[in-house]
Amino acid sequence: MTHVADPPLAATRPAARLSAFYADAVGDLEASDPALLHLLGDELVRQRDTLALVASCSPARPAALLAEGSAFANVTAEGYPGRRFHAGCVNVDKVEQLAIDRAVLAFGARYANVQPHSASTANQVVMTSLLEPHDPILGLDLDAGGHLSHGAPVNVSGRVFTAYGYGLGPDGLIDYDEVRAKARAHRPRLIIAGTTAYPRVLDWAAFREIADEVGAYLLADISHIAGLVVAGLHPSPIDHAHVVTTCTHKQLYGPRGGLVLLGESADLRLPGGRTLAQTMQSGVFPLMQGAPIVNSIAGKAYALGAVTGPGFTETMGRIRSLAAALAAELVTRGVRVISGGTDNHIVVADVLSSFGITGINAEKALEECGVLVNKNRIVGDAHPAQVASGVRFGSNGMAAREFDTDDVTRVADLVVEVLTATRATSNTTYELPAELRERTAALVREMCRRRPVAGYR
Ligand SMILES: *Cc1c(COP(=O)(O)O)cnc(C)c1O
Repeated sequence: MTHVADPPLAATRPAARLSAFYADAVGDLEASDPALLHLLGDELVRQRDTLALVASCSPARPAALLAEGSAFANVTAEGYPGRRFHAGCVNVDKVEQLAIDRAVLAFGARYANVQPHSASTANQVVMTSLLEPHDPILGLDLDAGGHLSHGAPVNVSGRVFTAYGYGLGPDGLIDYDEVRAKARAHRPRLIIAGTTAYPRVLDWAAFREIADEVGAYLLADISHIAGLVVAGLHPSPIDHAHVVTTCTHKQLYGPRGGLVLLGESADLRLPGGRTLAQTMQSGVFPLMQGAPIVNSIAGKAYALGAVTGPGFTETMGRIRSLAAALAAELVTRGVRVISGGTDNHIVVADVLSSFGITGINAEKALEECGVLVNKNRIVGDAHPAQVASGVRFGSNGMAAREFDTDDVTRVADLVVEVLTATRATSNTTYELPAELRERTAALVREMCRRRPVAGYR
């Protein structure tokens, strides 16, 4: 038998080992699948050179993506740390426990489950483990800025459960009297507080009071505002709601995935004698999922560590001040901003009344210029969701680029210039002068390159 010499010490260091692994992988990709290699490279360039003002995403820290692309992907690990159904979980147990400990610390929780594949799945876990099929649930209407997984008719949540919705008042704000009236009328077993396009603060205590009055559980889905909550820039629902869910990819700059969190309610005894924490633990596995995506949990561990590390609170503060500045700049230019401004990262503008164009036309015209936004319905919208009368801006991406308020002024200028010049030829088609498109796209590219997201070159 030949003796294989130990590699030099340097090569056994984790950084060197990982660098070699990923360098070999890039070489392999180049040799074996150049088509895919090109797509991966093109996507980096696209993200570098476009201004993403999409409120529901953020550029993940490259280190989080590295963890997500790690060898943990190869491990099947049904169960939980210390109680697995498979061998080979020594490091898996450590990485999952690390993610749990960090989630607990970041959110001031008593219990965290880091296995949900997505926030939608996390919501399904909550509903399926606390309710019976056909039980009534009450969530914000999709059209008013709720989420599919909160009871939309096209979603499993709306098909398995009997879903009722509450809307927004004419001022664009949640009307808690309406929530109470709907709760009294329909006696939901679960009330869902959580939004995708709502620029104002949510009153968790008011939701809990209503839930208690009708004997409902309260689920707070903080997918959009999780970073602000961690940073203390939005009130935390952790001790108001029975259960909190979030995704890890919107405001936590992490990989795509979900979390279930419990605060003071963790030890609450449910009918049958089990605690809420035990119910969520079995609700994720084996009720809803099989083996966890361990590589995704590794990426979550990174992101959840970073939120209590240096710079995160500053980034969250910037998210809020940039969104507020954008709202103010748009209002100054005569744009109708829903609710007049923002308390978080979201600005919703009524482009139909401001520019005479639909949300889809605004979205497409801006995308041609390298600015990414979403069409969004607004209160009393006459158009369906695929057309819409508004657009939603978000500041997560601008904060990652360390934009300042001068940059926001430039963004508002060019957005208003483009939308003013966009001439609708129908609700879904338009004309945009080519000269303006090219000039603006070049300006946006230059702005983005001047202020890159850290690590995205
Ligand atoms: C984005 C979002 C979700 C869905 O997250 P996924 O991880 O994509 O399933 C759920 N709830 C709310 C409020 C969201 O904004």
